[in-house]
Amino acid sequence: MKETIISVRDLRKKYGDFEAVKGISFEVQKGEIFGLLGPNGAGKSTTLEIIETLRDKTAGTVIVDGFDLDKAPGEIKKIIGVQLQTSGYYPGLNLSELIELFGGLYNRRVRPMDLLDAVNLREKAKAKFKELSGGQKQRFSIATTLINQPKIIFLDEPTTGLDPQARRNLWDLIKEIQAKGTTVIITTHYMDEAEKLCDRVAIVDAGQIIALDTPDKLIDQLVATGFERPKEVKKANLEDVFIHLTGHALREEH
Ligand code: ADP
Ligand code: MG
Repeated sequence: MKETIISVRDLRKKYGDFEAVKGISFEVQKGEIFGLLGPNGAGKSTTLEIIETLRDKTAGTVIVDGFDLDKAPGEIKKIIGVQLQTSGYYPGLNLSELIELFGGLYNRRVRPMDLLDAVNLREKAKAKFKELSGGQKQRFSIATTLINQPKIIFLDEPTTGLDPQARRNLWDLIKEIQAKGTTVIITTHYMDEAEKLCDRVAIVDAGQIIALDTPDKLIDQLVATGFERPKEVKKANLEDVFIHLTGHALREEH
């Protein structure tokens, strides 16, 4: 049985005279990976930050796990996991110490090693954040979203700038988090990523949702209009070649 965990109704956000979010509505089901897809400036981060209680909205209704954003933002904060700004990663502390510190901020007892294990960073427990590779930094940042054992985590472009192996590794991690029952909202502008990872996606353009469905159904709808790719599709693409030649294994581990 499907159960709605996030409900957004006619959400609007103005920055001065500019309306960045123009009345969007969507629902996220418990346990799914829901993607907000769209070009830069579409309003994805603004939308996420409003739901995360980090940014004021101009109009609309947001309900998260039964709590109204206008009435109980504190209750919402307790059940969500948000990637912290990397500026909050005190340079003098190692990963294990950072997790203990964040646990204190959330008023939670955490076991740093368990959390680092979950994101495959146990061997980096004594390393500083700045010493990590791009993929490791993203994995650590995802670990910080899990500190308060949230029902929902928000990931804003977690794979931007990563190499293909690190991206795949992160997809596996996000799938594992979902498998443990956590709902995931993710933004991306990589369509291959959305197709593989997301149960449903909303395509956002200039502050509006222009399509919302499973990746499969959106593709079928396009094909039903008579759309065909202009040239014959090969059975592999350059990324397949790259992965075939260089392997799936991460290169960043020492
Ligand atoms: P996305 O995450 O999809 O790239 P954003 O939500 O960051 O989009 O931004 C949507 C639009 O709102 C953009 O045109 C951006 O320039 C504008 N915007 C974002 N934050 C602010 C802000 N604090 N003040 C003014 N304009 C902003
Ligand atoms: Mg953004």
